[in-house]
Amino acid sequence: MSGFAQLRLDGVTRRFGTADALSGLDLTIERGEFIALLGPSGCGKSTALNCLAGLLPLTAGSIWQDDRRIDTLPPEKRGFGMVFQNYALFPHLTVRDNIAFGLRMRNLPKSDVQRRTADAIEMVQLGDHAGKLPGQLSGGQQQRVAIARATVLEPSLVLMDEPLSNLDAKLRLEMRTEIRRLHQSLGLTTVYVTHDQEEALSMADRLVVMRLGKVQQIGTPEEVHTKPSTWHVADFMGYRNLLPLKVSQLNGDQVTVDLGGTPVRGAAQGPVAIGDDVIAAVRPEDVKLGDEGVKGLVEVVEYQGRERALEVALDGDVKLHVRTEHRVEPGEQVALTVTPGRLLVYPS
Ligand code: ATP
Repeated sequence: MSGFAQLRLDGVTRRFGTADALSGLDLTIERGEFIALLGPSGCGKSTALNCLAGLLPLTAGSIWQDDRRIDTLPPEKRGFGMVFQNYALFPHLTVRDNIAFGLRMRNLPKSDVQRRTADAIEMVQLGDHAGKLPGQLSGGQQQRVAIARATVLEPSLVLMDEPLSNLDAKLRLEMRTEIRRLHQSLGLTTVYVTHDQEEALSMADRLVVMRLGKVQQIGTPEEVHTKPSTWHVADFMGYRNLLPLKVSQLNGDQVTVDLGGTPVRGAAQGPVAIGDDVIAAVRPEDVKLGDEGVKGLVEVVEYQGRERALEVALDGDVKLHVRTEHRVEPGEQVALTVTPGRLLVYPS
């Protein structure tokens, strides 16, 4: 299957009954990109991937490979590779035969099949296991077989649906690097579904953050991490403090809110006016303990190795999550400041 310069999703919509599982997805994927579809359970990520794969017909919209419309093609005519969380290997075939399967289906010369299969086995470092059955492999090894099987056909696009979710934490970290390395060395274009924001941030060139079937934000990991477009995205990206506050002063996009009786400055992330109810978002690691600032009472201390996670009660029934390297005890009075520029203020 030939490559493409761009893959374009244009208003891709999929309805089940009366509900849109995916609603008007617009996305242009450049050749060579690693795209993560990210969002909480039920937001429509898998639906988007299955629409791309051709496993689900669209209710509305279209998908284009350069100027060729492909959403009307059956899955096998799209030339995409797929990797799923349950591996979907043939249990009665060896590693080698699992990987060679697709090449054989294409009636390629035997020597080509052998060479490409051997290369793929080498690439995922399964040389010592090529004669084994999937049941004799660890989860990580099985997932590597699945990846080799999907990429040996040199697909124009590789689709992965939570491929690491069945692996233990250590292996998950290793496989992140592994998949990213393969993506790069094979020059793949990859669309990767995950609900794990760290996975998405560490692997992808661009993130598509979804909620309730709709795109909330498309951006680089840094953009999505430092400037979430809505408080829902902020929530999902680890801004654990989402505080319902009021705007007391405004100067351009510099907003002052009242936090536990103390004015604190933040950056407006949308239209807000003095007196408005807003949602102020800040990460626990961007709240610092000091000698002055917002006064609060430490209620909960959770030991986390190098750091402690605190829950601090402020005036006005506001609770603030704080991470600190200081040794703090429950019942202590503390003063808190927010790292300048890190309080994001969203219209509520
Ligand atoms: P998860 O991470 O839990 O798989 P997701 O973000 O991938 O979630 P989808 O599987 O795309 O979400 O589902 C989106 C919505 O569509 C959900 O509300 C789901 O219940 C619904 N849905 C998905 N598939 C079907 C189906 N075959 N029939 C009816 N509703 C469906």
